[in-house]
Amino acid sequence: MSRLAIVVPCYNEEEMLPITFEELREVLHNLIEKNKITEDSFLLFVDDGSKDKTWEVISKEHERSSKYVFGLKLARNVGHQNALIAGLSKAKDLADIVVSIDADLQDDTAAIEAMVDAYHEGNDIVYGVRNSRKTDSFFKRNTAQVFYRLLSAMGVETIYNHADYRLMSRRALEQLLEYKETNLYLRGMIPLIGYKTGEVYYERKERTKGESKYPFSKMLSLALNGITSFSVKPIRLIAALGCFILLGCLAAAIYAFASYFMGNVEKGWTSLILSIWFLGGVQLLSIGVIGEYIGKIYMEVKQRPKYNVEMFLKQENTDEY
Ligand code: UDP
Ligand code: MG
Repeated sequence: MSRLAIVVPCYNEEEMLPITFEELREVLHNLIEKNKITEDSFLLFVDDGSKDKTWEVISKEHERSSKYVFGLKLARNVGHQNALIAGLSKAKDLADIVVSIDADLQDDTAAIEAMVDAYHEGNDIVYGVRNSRKTDSFFKRNTAQVFYRLLSAMGVETIYNHADYRLMSRRALEQLLEYKETNLYLRGMIPLIGYKTGEVYYERKERTKGESKYPFSKMLSLALNGITSFSVKPIRLIAALGCFILLGCLAAAIYAFASYFMGNVEKGWTSLILSIWFLGGVQLLSIGVIGEYIGKIYMEVKQRPKYNVEMFLKQENTDEY
């Protein structure tokens, strides 16, 4: 049997938390009763520098049931992704499997049991994937769709309609923490780990208490981070544009010379128009070439692990191999 930790990042969630405690406790007890997880499984609430009484609420609940309600208080607000990784790193040392879920419980907690089952079937990572976006506003639904399309066009592998509701085994978490980058976009990083992965489908509800902590500005910055942390394609586009304009320069040259020989142009126009096209193309291409090197430097400084060994077969009880 395995020890389960459920990690919940919380930012200004005082209104929501009492309901969250109640529901997640039910989930834990139910799974313990069914002998799917050990009795010392626990919930870990991460207070991401909240300005309201979130931490008081968490510590009170910990006093009441210290056996399975743990709290981690961050010194200031660092954002959802960082708060999540803080919780995951703490949980990794204590638990065998870790599920992350938002405090507002928009994600159906019934999927946790399915995730644990999928883990017992041999999956190291189980993604919670929402069936539809019915409960989202028209605006959020469409911007999300554009975002996923853009990401995949930029060559970033992501799971469609999966947010940060997922299960990870300890060894998958250990490998995740080998990614030392500071700009976190977990949804993009986790598919890089490898191992057997599964998916569990669920319906996403609307937020019942409090309001979304992801206003459009934060969503946009997460999206930009997702693209620029994983792809140097935007730089390549600049180089491609440079080549394209140089080709355009050829067409412009034919047009300019034709006009010149037909004699109906101002003096100096031909050389001016050709210089503009040519220099424009050369400049963009040069920026693209420099960008290519900067892109390499960017990827190097991340110092991401180059591989993740899943298994190594060798003769037992020998020192050499
Ligand atoms: N959150 C956080 N730090 C932040 C913003 C959000 O820990 O700076 C938490 C928040 O408490 C919630 C989760 O991240 O548990 C997702 O936020 P929210 O539900 O507001 O996002 P939405 O579902 O609207 O995209
Ligand atoms: Mg939410």
